[in-house]
Amino acid sequence: MRAFTYERASSVEAAASAASNNANAKFIAGGTNLLDLMKLEIETPTHLIDVNGLGLDTIEATSDGGLRIGAMVRNTDLAAHATVRRDYGLLSRALVAGASGQLRNKATTAGNLLQRTRCPYFYDTNQPCNKRQPGSGCSAIGGFSRQHAIVGVSEACIATHPSDMAIAMRALDAEVKTVKADNKRRSIPIADFYRLPGDTPHIETVLEPGEFITAVVLPAPVGGKHIYRKVRDRASYAFALISVGAVVQPDGTGKVAIGGVAHKPWRVEAAEADLPKGARAASNAILAGAKPTEQNRFKVALVERTLGAVLSEARG
Ligand SMILES: Cc1cc2nc3c(=O)[nH]c(=O)nc-3n(C[C@H](O)[C@H](O)[C@H](O)COP(=O)(O)OP(=O)(O)OC[C@H]3O[C@@H](n4cnc5c(N)ncnc54)[C@H](O)[C@@H]3O)c2cc1C
Ligand code: SF4
Repeated sequence: MRAFTYERASSVEAAASAASNNANAKFIAGGTNLLDLMKLEIETPTHLIDVNGLGLDTIEATSDGGLRIGAMVRNTDLAAHATVRRDYGLLSRALVAGASGQLRNKATTAGNLLQRTRCPYFYDTNQPCNKRQPGSGCSAIGGFSRQHAIVGVSEACIATHPSDMAIAMRALDAEVKTVKADNKRRSIPIADFYRLPGDTPHIETVLEPGEFITAVVLPAPVGGKHIYRKVRDRASYAFALISVGAVVQPDGTGKVAIGGVAHKPWRVEAAEADLPKGARAASNAILAGAKPTEQNRFKVALVERTLGAVLSEARG
């Protein structure tokens, strides 16, 4: 690990200003992803800004019936919160499908959204990887690509986004609240938060350098049946091959986001009109234009079957 300096931010404004003073600074929350990446020298910040003591660990009702989740709320606390379990069951289920109990005790809402891909070549510093080292090439294209993306891919990168929580946030139409380095605040719909890889796979979100997440806000509950189904190589402590996060209404309409298939939580709102027609019609529309590799072609059928199981469970 490279040497770095460290400070505890005393306020949100101080955190944003500390980041604006040092282009090589990074915020540290639970540290469960960042510290691993620093040990491998994939992330090499020269300064860490600890944002754990800023009081951003509360969950509060909003005036329009929604829920404001502080950026530092731990994944365990969010999954167990009574309102989340009652009104946003999809979020609770997605969270407990991720990582392990110990990791969820440390992992935060903001850190979870910003965790990096689990592409094995991204972690292997002996291999070319455009995301780790722009312009070096993509080892997964033509290499081991079983876990990789099938939609929204580019010639520079076919990595997937790893977060389970973000799939639920996408289906629930969350908004990400931030403060920029110049202390201006903004609200980013999660639909616009993540980027596809294009020819700049190292830029994963629309956040500006030093922009700090303060909270995630969920709109008022929409009812319906909340289901998160994650398919993986072993029953726990593994990232998704694919996952389906869905809110299904009694008339068969609903909202569906898919994990493990793209560089971001994958949702095609126009395809949701096909949900009452069944899983085949909906998954064909959700995965339109898919470009799987030989090794991950199975994901196309896996999405259809998993969505079918989710719709069937929703119908009881
Ligand atoms: C063995 C293992 C298994 C795992 N399995 C799963 C799984 O199955 N599913 C899953 O979804 N996840 C899984 N994870 C990932 C885990 O959920 C993430 O590591 C965790 O959510 C990251 O949160 P953190 O608070 O520790 O983030 P950190 O590591 O502290 O930070 C991550 C990134 O977010 C940035 N950041 C943090 N807070 C802010 C903020 N407020 N504003 C702006 N930037 C910020 C940091 O600078 C850093 O770049 C696993 C992790 C491990 C190690
Ligand atoms: S898929 Fe993306 S993260 Fe993986 S090796 Fe290629 S460029 Fe790197």
